[in-house]
Amino acid sequence: MTRVVAKFGGTSVGSVERIRHSAGLVADAAARGETMAVVVSAMAGETDRILGLAGEFGAGLGDAETDVALAAGEQVSSALMALALRELGLNARSFLGWQLPVITDGPPGAARIAGMDVSVLETVLEQGIVPVLAGFQGITGEGDVRTLGRGGTDLSAAALAAALGARCDIYTDVDGVYTTDPRIEPGAGRLEAISHDEMLELAAQGAKVLQTRSVEFAKARGVPMRVLSSFLAAGESRGTDVVKETGIAERRIVSGVAYARDQARIALLGASSRSDLAARTFALLADAEIGVDMIVQAQARTPGTVNIEFSVAHRDLDRAQALLEGELPGVDISSETGLAKVSIVGAGLRQRADVARSLFAVLGDHGISVRVLATSEIKISALIENDAVERAVRALHAAYGLDQV
Ligand code: ASP
Ligand code: MG
Repeated sequence: MTRVVAKFGGTSVGSVERIRHSAGLVADAAARGETMAVVVSAMAGETDRILGLAGEFGAGLGDAETDVALAAGEQVSSALMALALRELGLNARSFLGWQLPVITDGPPGAARIAGMDVSVLETVLEQGIVPVLAGFQGITGEGDVRTLGRGGTDLSAAALAAALGARCDIYTDVDGVYTTDPRIEPGAGRLEAISHDEMLELAAQGAKVLQTRSVEFAKARGVPMRVLSSFLAAGESRGTDVVKETGIAERRIVSGVAYARDQARIALLGASSRSDLAARTFALLADAEIGVDMIVQAQARTPGTVNIEFSVAHRDLDRAQALLEGELPGVDISSETGLAKVSIVGAGLRQRADVARSLFAVLGDHGISVRVLATSEIKISALIENDAVERAVRALHAAYGLDQV
């Protein structure tokens, strides 16, 4: 029998009606003969509400007490989901992180899953009981509660699926992964299947459907994922399979266009090429947990000097600039805001050397200038003006044939 871990996000458990509907999808899958385990997020808005309450006392994400408060959100929804399943005649039982346990390391508010003991769940599954695990939480070796970072229930689900040898179905409010954001391009199409790598790049470049770390985990452990809608009737959501690249029959060059607004560019000008400036800069930013992207280093006009440019999220700009100015005296640091990042992602980019040029041409034809361009094996990102995002997304979507998907 196929084992499935079904994860329901906040909107899928956002009210009594939504919990009943999601429980119905689990019951339907169980009736089809799938062995089901469930993982739930807190009810929609609950995590923000609890964060706000902790904030009233000056405690933010990263405070151990905040974690204790936050974990209650998933505690509530796991019990309610078990009750809803029971209402439908299934045998179900909730489990909190400490009951398996889910062991974590790393700081409060951003813990990582170090291991998961599923022996209790194996027993429960054998007895025909549907376990409902509270997502987003685990404990330290000492038994303290930890949460996994925003969106962390996806990671709980991927880790549980790996431990149980199951497929990981992520139920959300959209019917799968789309070629781009349908709010910008109404012609966006649902992808039948996408590789872990492509999904990882899309998530990292701004697509919000799956948490990045959960896809990393699924990729490393070979867990097949499926993105489905919990807002459709049982059997109606077609969804998107997130699988190993070799499991994908359909060949495309580009699978999706992602974007992220509110980016900023930092430039370090004329630094000595002999110094370890780049290494020091990125180590400093990494230690401060500031995400850096699209790094470009080039020879400057003055012999022996280089220019380094990179992008950061606008919200991190002030912090990044203050940090670098303090630690890198004498380096000329400037910045630009009002930028956005648009990216094309596709496993087929590996075989194409000319795509960077064609991307320049497509954007150029639409009067969009590129500030910085960065490529990886299966992704090309361009830093452009915020105002040009919608035009750029539509132009690239059409140019790479995604309106045919
Ligand atoms: N409830 C947590 C959050 O909102 C975890 C999750 O939903 O994945 O970030
Ligand atoms: Mg989520």
